[in-house]
Amino acid sequence: NEPKIEFISKKTEPKTDQQIISYGSLCETFEKIENTTKRLEITSYLTKFFVNVIENAPDSLLPSIGPEYDGKELGIGESLLMKALAGATGRTVKAIKADMEEKGDLGTIAQASKGKQMMMMKPKPHTVNSVFEALKTIANFSGASVLEFNYGHNKEKSLEGKLRIGLAHQTILIALSHAVAQKEPGKLNVDKEYLKLSESKRQAYLAETVAIVKQVFRQINIDFSEIPSYDMIIPALLEHGSRELAKHCQLSPGIPLKPMLAHPTKSLTDVLNRFEGVAFTCEYKYDGERAQIHLLKDGRVMVYSRNSENLSEKYPDIIERMPSCVNPGIKSFVLDCEAVAWDIKHQCILPFQVLSTRKRKDVQTKDIQVQVCIFAFDLLYLNGEALVKESLKKRRELLKSSFKEFPGQFEFAKSMESNSVDDIQNFLDASIAGNCEGLMVKTLEVEASYEPSKRSRNWLKVKKDYINGMGDSLDLVVIGAFMGKGKRTGTYGAYLLACYDDDKEEYQTTGFSDENLTENYKLLKQHVIDSPPSYYAISDSPNVRPDVWFSPTVVWEVKAADLSISPVHKAAIGIVDPSKGISLRFPRFIRVRDDKTPENATNATQVAEFYNAQNLNSVTLQDDEFEY
Ligand code: ATP
Repeated sequence: NEPKIEFISKKTEPKTDQQIISYGSLCETFEKIENTTKRLEITSYLTKFFVNVIENAPDSLLPSIGPEYDGKELGIGESLLMKALAGATGRTVKAIKADMEEKGDLGTIAQASKGKQMMMMKPKPHTVNSVFEALKTIANFSGASVLEFNYGHNKEKSLEGKLRIGLAHQTILIALSHAVAQKEPGKLNVDKEYLKLSESKRQAYLAETVAIVKQVFRQINIDFSEIPSYDMIIPALLEHGSRELAKHCQLSPGIPLKPMLAHPTKSLTDVLNRFEGVAFTCEYKYDGERAQIHLLKDGRVMVYSRNSENLSEKYPDIIERMPSCVNPGIKSFVLDCEAVAWDIKHQCILPFQVLSTRKRKDVQTKDIQVQVCIFAFDLLYLNGEALVKESLKKRRELLKSSFKEFPGQFEFAKSMESNSVDDIQNFLDASIAGNCEGLMVKTLEVEASYEPSKRSRNWLKVKKDYINGMGDSLDLVVIGAFMGKGKRTGTYGAYLLACYDDDKEEYQTTGFSDENLTENYKLLKQHVIDSPPSYYAISDSPNVRPDVWFSPTVVWEVKAADLSISPVHKAAIGIVDPSKGISLRFPRFIRVRDDKTPENATNATQVAEFYNAQNLNSVTLQDDEFEY
């Protein structure tokens, strides 16, 4: 189904200033994409843009896409943006506020305001690179410094973190492969070769190039996910070409890996059935925040979140203590850990809620109120060598021989090996008594490699809640709300939640949740959009059309009484029932998951799995039902 690839001949004229990639041309591409829902059209707009970049300004390729791991959502507040816009256009904040009440979209207002503005000289257009640099600078700033920036239409949206145009990672990869196929950069000088080929051979050559590039990307990004970021891939692609790409993209400290994830289970019997005849280990499942700790070759220590976000600013205390936790001779590493709130006085673990009160930015060690202890459970890289392909047994041995424990500061995750249900039950009880969430049960020797970004069945989670029969929670994206009535007038009354379907790349509604925390109202109010984007799968029924829509930004952890087939909601449509979705009954808000992006929310296949699991008579899940 891929669009026919057209060969575009190389321009021979020398480069001029005009060939710099303007931010306007990227915005034009975004607008075209926003106005269509057809995947092939989206891919071809994007391919065309990438071809132009590779040909004329390869240095703009990475800024056009933006690196993933440092690409924080900027999410600057609306009032600050209004002030910045006033400063940049010579209008008053009051006038902008009035426009805002009428039009609702700051981007449109910015465009109109700039249009009206009188200028002595036409300003130089922004380039993709200059905007990217400015966004990076802003991401590292806070508060008033933002006012100094002078932005136009789509930039306002980028700043608000609303620039979601239904463009998913997979589509970017495909378009990039197509562009590379057309304009193999670097040494291969494909253009020259092409000119000698007949049209049909040229097409075949291009198709083959697409296949190679996609395979390399797939291997790196999906199978291994050792390199989640474009930061390394794009320069390597430009310098070495598609054929050499794999060789130049290796795991290295300073670039976070996407973490390995676990499958839920319903009982200890599930675990024993799954791991019959296989060596496995049980570890405490600590209830804190995942922390991937890197020691770079230059001696710097970095901490990354579950989402590959740089948390180093949040955890200066971890960074300070790490050098004293390593044995001599350790020059670089990547550790997988859980950072847990720690009660120094009583020497015990504190609940997750305590950790969530810790400040995220500008943290000075001396001001830290909530202390953390690191529980290390895996070692993924050591002294120049990636360990992900090694067994957990080997990785754990290396972990224990390379690091030393400091009680209350840096400890190895508590573990136990036994096949007896009684032993495992006792270990589970002890973990819960020690303020943990339950157990992680992992294969130790066979099929025991570290699988970045995979929800692997070689890692099972046993939570205390499952044992009580309540089931796992879901992480859903808040996409709309009804205005409140009665006591709730002036805030939102009920929120529309959605799961993410990563195949269809759309948000599918799962139902409404009653919730009335003012913090949630305040947070979501900032993400209101005019109308639902094309990638929201929603019913036309007026009963489920909310009063306000939100951009897909906020993720909530919710717990539901149960799941049922729904004639109106769209979650997992086509998986359990060909034309009906699944809805949640009485979903209850638990907390905001700010460590998950909307694309990391519970996906459609998981919702189907939850639905199927609840309907199983037997407590034992079959092997294939472990697969989402
Ligand atoms: P998801 O729902 O996507 O699986 P989650 O973030 O909601 O992810 P859980 O399902 O609760 O997480 O369980 C996995 C998490 O448990 C890991 O991401 C990690 O942060 C935490 N964890 C605590 N102890 C361990 C351990 N010993 N081994 C692995 N992970 C652990």
